[in-house]
Amino acid sequence: MSSTPEVVVVGGGPGGAAAAYWLARRGHHVVLVEKRELPRAKTCGDGLTPRAVHELREMGFDFSVAEFHKCEGLRAVAGDLTIELAWPQHPVYPSWGGVIRRIDLDAQVARLAEAQGVVVRQGTVARPVLGNGRIAAVALIRHGETEMVFPRAVVVADGSLSRFGRALGARRDVRRPFGLGARGYFASPRSGDRYLESYLDLRQGGAALPGYGWIFPLGDGTVNVGVGVISTFHRWKEVNTSALLGVLVTTADPSWGLATGGAIGRPTGGKLPMSFSVGPVVGANWLLVGDAAGAINPFNGEGIAYAYETGRMAAEHLSTALGAGDLTRLQGYRQELDDRYGLYYRVGRAFVRLIGRPGMMPFLTRTGLRSRPLMEWVMRVMANLLDPADRGVGMAAYRLLERLVQVGPEP
Ligand code: FAD
Repeated sequence: MSSTPEVVVVGGGPGGAAAAYWLARRGHHVVLVEKRELPRAKTCGDGLTPRAVHELREMGFDFSVAEFHKCEGLRAVAGDLTIELAWPQHPVYPSWGGVIRRIDLDAQVARLAEAQGVVVRQGTVARPVLGNGRIAAVALIRHGETEMVFPRAVVVADGSLSRFGRALGARRDVRRPFGLGARGYFASPRSGDRYLESYLDLRQGGAALPGYGWIFPLGDGTVNVGVGVISTFHRWKEVNTSALLGVLVTTADPSWGLATGGAIGRPTGGKLPMSFSVGPVVGANWLLVGDAAGAINPFNGEGIAYAYETGRMAAEHLSTALGAGDLTRLQGYRQELDDRYGLYYRVGRAFVRLIGRPGMMPFLTRTGLRSRPLMEWVMRVMANLLDPADRGVGMAAYRLLERLVQVGPEP
């Protein structure tokens, strides 16, 4: 391998694979470094919304693979109330989503990047070497052997723990919301179900929690079962996601057969940094994408689509900056993140603060689940599937929310 790739991308998850793919498509010489051997598992719900499907489609992902299970919508459950909502029609995004284990998804997208000419270095840890306020070199460490490379720029896509990003000085804004989740796989007779199911009445010690449980069918005899809770609840530090997962398994609709089918392997937990809580997202010759930037949508905990989207945006800005020989242009990426997500994520932060207040989550879910038009609107908002050209009452209501959060204090 040449020791002078133009760009090193750190991390072979959705953010890194997308950044590498789009850079290579623009003709750049890219090395994608992944510390584990692919295919590798990643703690995740494995759920893809239409936004994620759209990005995968743009990269030429083959949805006919056996591992991909297509889903038509979302079923929300709270106590005795249930509502089934199909994914909405949208001019850009498809009206379907899906479920695929991350062990399969990430390996397949890395192959798409490879087909564009990306050199994938697996089982290799990347560490930055700093000099003159920039990344002077990247150390690639494999089996104790270190190789130094000297890229012109680095895309940092090393996930929620982001040791590489932290070595560059990136920090999480602790005032912003944060999520914790846990998931496990279970055998289930309803693995072929075409809806993502979410449980909106998570409770611990009788108190309702901001967050939800899920059962996402994989179509292969198994389902992904998990819980996610957000930090806007005052007793947040006492939340035990493994215990909540245990409760969900015993209380979910018995037709899923979770309690009888049994777990496949041990459940695992993980962090969900959200709302662009990590920064700065741009340095002298580097950019943060995906979870490393805290890009998860605070409304619903979705991070795969935002990792693909930010990876692609970072690639576009980096390509332009490299072409112009002017890396100060990377600041355009920061600006685009602000333009595309700033206000929407601000509304999201206000929403998760609201549902963190005592009694709010049960009140809102029970009100919402009784009204189909209201829930359809909520689903559009939470999955970021509003159509800006829409002149209807739903979009008008959302614009009103935007105005309200702009005049209120920073949520
Ligand atoms: P990652 O997917 O974490 O990839 C980072 C990669 O970098 C890893 O492969 C890691 O091995 C590698 N790496 C780290 N450090 C180095 C290094 N120094 N050198 C080389 N490689 C390195 N999102 C959804 O859209 N749908 C869901 O259903 C969903 N469910 C979730 C459930 C849970 C419990 C959790 C915790 C998260 C969930 N998310 C979900 C969020 C989603 O998993 C993340 O947002 C997404 O994985 C972010 O992608 P990424 O590429 O930024 O990071």
